Amino acid sequence: MRTRTKLSEVWSRVRRVVFSLQLFGLLLFCVTVLGELFLARYIRVPVAHAVVFVMTGVTGLSVDVDSASIWLAYAPFACASAAFVALFPPYLWRRLSGARRPTDEEREALSAALSTLRDQVPMAARFRYVLVLDDPLPFAAVRGRALMLSRGAFDHAVLEPLLAHEAHHVDSLDSRLALALSRLMPLKSQIGVLDFGGSSTSGLVFGLSSFAMKAAIWVVLCGPVLRFSRGVWGMYWRRREYAADAYAVELGQGYELISLLETYVQPFDLPVPYLVFDKKDHEFAALRIDRLQRLLRRS
Ligand SMILES: [Zn+2]
Repeated sequence: MRTRTKLSEVWSRVRRVVFSLQLFGLLLFCVTVLGELFLARYIRVPVAHAVVFVMTGVTGLSVDVDSASIWLAYAPFACASAAFVALFPPYLWRRLSGARRPTDEEREALSAALSTLRDQVPMAARFRYVLVLDDPLPFAAVRGRALMLSRGAFDHAVLEPLLAHEAHHVDSLDSRLALALSRLMPLKSQIGVLDFGGSSTSGLVFGLSSFAMKAAIWVVLCGPVLRFSRGVWGMYWRRREYAADAYAVELGQGYELISLLETYVQPFDLPVPYLVFDKKDHEFAALRIDRLQRLLRRS
């Protein structure tokens, strides 16, 4: 009986992917990975070879330069593929973003908020790992089975709509895709799905300042194909935001989500020229509110 229930769950997931925008995301991911693999064969391996050669020269370590450069060039693909199967603890995400473990009080608030959602899925079944970022604004993101919340999400009592929205990303392919993409550019992605900005972590990690060396590290570790396809990825994620908002309405958090967007998101929205080439992975708050209001009028 249990096996049959599991099988029907898997089948309904497969059906949801095949007949939805998620299939496009999956295909886009395959194209991105193939592009990165092509790059790995002809550019990443030689660049990684030069980087390892210089590093061994500087540090005096005795390393097999050929095999080390192959490992360095191909490791992101192994990690990205593994993201679809094994969901490891979000160690790297936690370290790169500066997040911490939740306190007992925060854990209790989280369980209480999840219990108010209509589908009543327990916390451990939906979010296996929880991280908290000490940021005053309400914010939530998922990767794999890991949920990241800002401290502001607890302070402003907006957990329910945030969790209802993130629940859709976790229940669909979104969170696995976000995790796999982040593995393709391990040193550049910290908070947002396509966050290419922020400090130059690669430069800090290696303590090197020359432009050539930074550029080499960027090519090897930061997913250039992903960067060049960011416009299409941005468009894909903006569409998925609508799906997650619609799910929040299903879970009874539509009005709360509108209020959250109006208060904490819309005031920070800025015009984005040439949006089609931009990494912006969240739709304008005004458009999301408009879509939510239409959904609520229909329900
Ligand atoms: Zn979202």
